[in-house]
Amino acid sequence: MGLFNRLLGFLNKESRNEDEANGLLLLIRRVIMVMMPFYLVMGIYSAVIHLGLKPCLIFFAGFVIYAGIFAESYTRNSKICLTYLIISATIITGFLTVVFGWRASFQNFIYINFLILWYDPTSGRREKILSSMAMGMAICLISYLTPFGASILVPNTPPHFFIVYTNIILFSVCLAIVAYHFCNQYIESEYRLREYNRKLKEMSETDPLTGLMNRRFMQDELEEMRRESKSEKYLFCIAIGDIDFFKKINDTYGHDAGDFILSEIAGIFKEYMKGTGYVARWGGEEFLFVLPRVNGDEGLKILDGLRRTIEQKEFSFEGTPIKVTMTFGIDEYSEISGIERTIAEADKKLYIGKQSGRNRVIF
Ligand code: GH3
Ligand code: MG
Ligand code: MG
Repeated sequence: MGLFNRLLGFLNKESRNEDEANGLLLLIRRVIMVMMPFYLVMGIYSAVIHLGLKPCLIFFAGFVIYAGIFAESYTRNSKICLTYLIISATIITGFLTVVFGWRASFQNFIYINFLILWYDPTSGRREKILSSMAMGMAICLISYLTPFGASILVPNTPPHFFIVYTNIILFSVCLAIVAYHFCNQYIESEYRLREYNRKLKEMSETDPLTGLMNRRFMQDELEEMRRESKSEKYLFCIAIGDIDFFKKINDTYGHDAGDFILSEIAGIFKEYMKGTGYVARWGGEEFLFVLPRVNGDEGLKILDGLRRTIEQKEFSFEGTPIKVTMTFGIDEYSEISGIERTIAEADKKLYIGKQSGRNRVIF
């Protein structure tokens, strides 16, 4: 397992150049990794069964050239490796097709290079089209040069079966490797895009300090709730809560302590409002609460529970105990007054709460 992993690590080693097309290098290496042993085995096999000097030489030359490109892939850039691969594979498969005949299917390998070429993210479309045309012409030339039906192999003998079918299997494996890369790249970019969109959406909807919904997102939610409450005929309440003497907290303990209190208090809101309603950071130390399916009296009780929870909580900032209280104004939403007026009413009641001594909920 250790050796296998080391081999895999070596195969997947990224290029030293940072803006290199590593995916392409990896694809080239994987395809060559499959081809090298095939050419070596075929070269030895051709020598053993005395197929002649030509096929042995081509197979061994193929092996050496592919090994060279494989080694180059660790030092050179992907484009040079791709060019080497396309040119050498076209020449090698061309010779092999002329020697073994069209039925041996060596020429098919050019189509694999065709696909690898289109995988290259660093080449332009024009370059790819021109290279593809050149490759198509090379196939035509090979076809022209290959005598019809001629092959050094005697049809339906073991060497014929062995070389032809092993070559077809090799072609299929290489095709599968290329397909795997294309598919993987597609899935990966889809996943990255989805993750990116999710993060972007999250960032546009939440307040970074408290992790609560931000004002803009809450406005959309309120609009949604307005439509829903109309069609489903249910009540809801809107409340605004403001931390009492928050300026003093900043002045006494520092701005960081103020930030700490804001994020701690948001944590309490989230916990308390679970299954009860929604809360957003509306302004600096002001929060907007939405309580669906409750009337004003019920909403007042709910918020009073929250007010008491905060009043009883002792926050500790870097070992310093800090206590805070909050004042809330709450109002029932009605279709006649609409969202804006309901918020304005809640704000007015908050003001009354502040005027009449703070640390209270006013309905
Ligand atoms: P009141 O009881 O009347 O609400 O008094 P207050 O001091 O809380 O009211 P005021 O509106 O005068 O002050 C609010 C302060 O909240 C002023 C501002 O510096 C502070 N504040 C607003 N946003 C933030 C923030 O993100 N972090 C910190 N640390 N302070 C903030
Ligand atoms: Mg305040
Ligand atoms: Mg305020």
